[in-house]
Amino acid sequence: MLLGVTAGAAAITLAPILFAPVSSARAADGASAVPPAQPPAPGSTVTRTVSGHLDTGAADFVHLPVEVPKGVRQIAVQYSYDKPAVPAGTPANSCDIGVFDQRGTALGGKGFRGWSGGFRTSFEISNSEATPGYLPGPVGAGTWHIVLGPYQVAPQGLDYQVQVTLTFGAPGPAFVPNYPPQRAKGRGRAWYRGDGHLHTVHSDGRRLPAEVAAGARAAGLDFMVSTDHNTTSSHAVWGEYAGPDLLIVTGEEVTTRNGHWLALGLPAGEWIDWRYRSRDNAFARFAGQVRRSGGLVVPAHPYCPYIACQWKSGYDDADAMEVWNGPWTYDDESAVDTWDARLGEAVRTGRRWTPAMGNSDAHSVPQVIGLPHNVVLADDLTTPDVLAGIKAGRSWIAESSAVGLDFTVTGGGRQAGIGGTLTAAVDAPVDVRLDVSGVPRGTVRFITDEGQLHQESLPDSGTGTVVWRTTASLAAYVRAEVRHPMADGTPGQGNTMGPALVWGPMAALTNPVFLRIA
Ligand SMILES: [Zn+2]
Ligand SMILES: [Zn+2]
Repeated sequence: MLLGVTAGAAAITLAPILFAPVSSARAADGASAVPPAQPPAPGSTVTRTVSGHLDTGAADFVHLPVEVPKGVRQIAVQYSYDKPAVPAGTPANSCDIGVFDQRGTALGGKGFRGWSGGFRTSFEISNSEATPGYLPGPVGAGTWHIVLGPYQVAPQGLDYQVQVTLTFGAPGPAFVPNYPPQRAKGRGRAWYRGDGHLHTVHSDGRRLPAEVAAGARAAGLDFMVSTDHNTTSSHAVWGEYAGPDLLIVTGEEVTTRNGHWLALGLPAGEWIDWRYRSRDNAFARFAGQVRRSGGLVVPAHPYCPYIACQWKSGYDDADAMEVWNGPWTYDDESAVDTWDARLGEAVRTGRRWTPAMGNSDAHSVPQVIGLPHNVVLADDLTTPDVLAGIKAGRSWIAESSAVGLDFTVTGGGRQAGIGGTLTAAVDAPVDVRLDVSGVPRGTVRFITDEGQLHQESLPDSGTGTVVWRTTASLAAYVRAEVRHPMADGTPGQGNTMGPALVWGPMAALTNPVFLRIA
């Protein structure tokens, strides 16, 4: 059954779909008496349809070769598959689709031409335009591969049908990408708000790029990162929607079968391969590619319960970690716990610590762009400066732009802010101060490597200042959380334990300030 294995996840290759005119194919020796076939008339089309069956246990990727002759102006693909009833609790059929051109399907290679996951049932590619998710460009002669990704196969198996239509004729004018600039009109070194995880119709979102940019502006953001699943096709349209007031950063959500990671700040048009599992040990290679290109590697929603969404490739190659994804839910609590444990490890080993990020992952109405987002201290509102601030952990996470916050640690005549380190004598008093606004009746928590050491409630106005004293010997780091009240209006149960959930939803979360003993 297994005919071929890529360097990444297991794949099989099916029999090719042929389009080449028979007579011209036979004339290759130059001595044939068969007259060469007339080239197909411009605008004429040829359609081939294939069908097949995949059993439970199918390879992650099923390659369907398509022999594309010369003179093709457009390739169009439609597909469908059956969805037999399955018992509750059993995954039903679900099959992704995408395509690679004549440059091949090698892992990390050049042939990628688009991916629409399970979001679309058809796509088209020509030199001038392509369906969102796909890359316009020449329809070159040679072997293309339609790639099916059967990521859920019902016990009955999956019956699929794929229809390929080639339209002949001269290629149209070349598509001209409109990439966004790497700079907006900033305020110099300042705190900038931005959502680092957003989807559009270029993957499985229902929002147009124009709607996402408008949503970012409405949310009071200074920057946003475009992270459609597995494709860079949106990069080429953001130039139209960026402006002096909104920095748009190009990225990708690299959607593997063992978790998703954000590639933030990719050079426009650079694609990162995602066709591997944790066991294929390819994540480090592609994380390295992103980093060499100046981008950041950020594992996303590590405890999302959806199939293939839990993060299994570790954090050693991560520049930051998305601990808060969309409206606050229990999987975010788990992510914060993992992140907090890693802070302790970083203190112990002296290795680099992993900053936290929070992003909306908004796809469609009613998901709110900017809920949550990062507030980043950057030298200016440019792509490299914002990425540097995130990588350094000079950031905190806000539920919305209505929440304001300032967090500092002062001792021995020195002061340090979020992401920084304060060096103080072993028992010198260190004052931790949080100024916060926009969280009515919220609960402020100060958390160190020992856990929650201080809790205080905010008034109805939602504005307040909380100060607490510690020392560098008592706390290796201090970070702050601001929680909404519990559903019953109470402030949460502090550092107690019991059968009920302990906390209301997060309103703001800071990266830590580290305390080093002088
Ligand atoms: Zn995801
Ligand atoms: Zn996402």
